[in-house]
Amino acid sequence: ATPTALMVGTGRGAQLGILIKGPEVLENTRRADTIVLDKTGTVTTGTMTLLRTHTLEGTEEAEVLRLAGALEHASEHPIARAVASGAAEKVGTLPVPEDFANVPGLGVQGIVEGHAVLVGREKLLAEWAMELPAELARAKAEAEAAGRTAIAVAWDGEARAVLEVADAVKPTSAEAITRLRGLGLTPVLLTGDNQAVAESVAAEVGIGPEDVIAEVMPEDKVDVVKRLQGEGRSVAMVGDGVNDAAALAQADLGLAMGTGTDAAIEAGDLTLVRGDLRAAADAIRLSRRTLGTIK
Ligand code: ADP
Ligand code: MG
Repeated sequence: ATPTALMVGTGRGAQLGILIKGPEVLENTRRADTIVLDKTGTVTTGTMTLLRTHTLEGTEEAEVLRLAGALEHASEHPIARAVASGAAEKVGTLPVPEDFANVPGLGVQGIVEGHAVLVGREKLLAEWAMELPAELARAKAEAEAAGRTAIAVAWDGEARAVLEVADAVKPTSAEAITRLRGLGLTPVLLTGDNQAVAESVAAEVGIGPEDVIAEVMPEDKVDVVKRLQGEGRSVAMVGDGVNDAAALAQADLGLAMGTGTDAAIEAGDLTLVRGDLRAAADAIRLSRRTLGTIK
């Protein structure tokens, strides 16, 4: 393509809500044959709601919500926001933790009112040699089979509750994925969330379980991209979170959700300004047209 065609391509991109870092990006956009999609905040809205609390016999729901809500109030994770606001709605003002730490990809831990509290994946509890009692493990399995994310709450060495949170698939995601397939790309859903939840979201947008890669730690997302590249694929990756930044940089083409974090936007080659996945298909069409491969 001539420099003029490239300039026209980038200008048209801006009209479609696609910001391209430079004309050289178009070539990788044209070549992509695989598109890795982060789940939370990319395929789904990322706005989660606290739906239910399952408590262990003898544990008060209000106590669970006070302690878990207090810790999650200190985190900016979409799950944390759901738990903190759901808890505040039910129990009012939340205590301020005496100590707090984010454990990326696993949850949060800290001290609230003198209790050592954990909120997050079962794996976080396992790191502290705790496990879910059968009653809570069953609630977790049922929630996940229904496509919800189940979060464990433990304090003072004992798992005491499971919280159910869920977010919704964006109304444009399924259409976007159909269009990406139409352009010859294979979509792959990548997430730190549980396998059952990931498969349920994937099914909703037309991705089969064979193209779901779940329970991936934030620092390992980049290795998934490398592995696909090692199979000779040209990999585009779409993400929104801090935990996607390294993978976006590693991908042959990094697409950041404009509604996402600055870290993702800085790491990407291209920004989908409106956070609409259909713009990823637009970007690929546009680059192919600009570079003269389709009419
Ligand atoms: P994703 O890849 O879908 O954006 P993350 O890597 O941020 O997800 O998180 C992976 C999983 O870790 C979540 O699905 C959740 O189970 C758990 N988790 C992470 N942060 C928190 C938190 N603040 N509170 C509870 N659970 C959390
Ligand atoms: Mg995300």
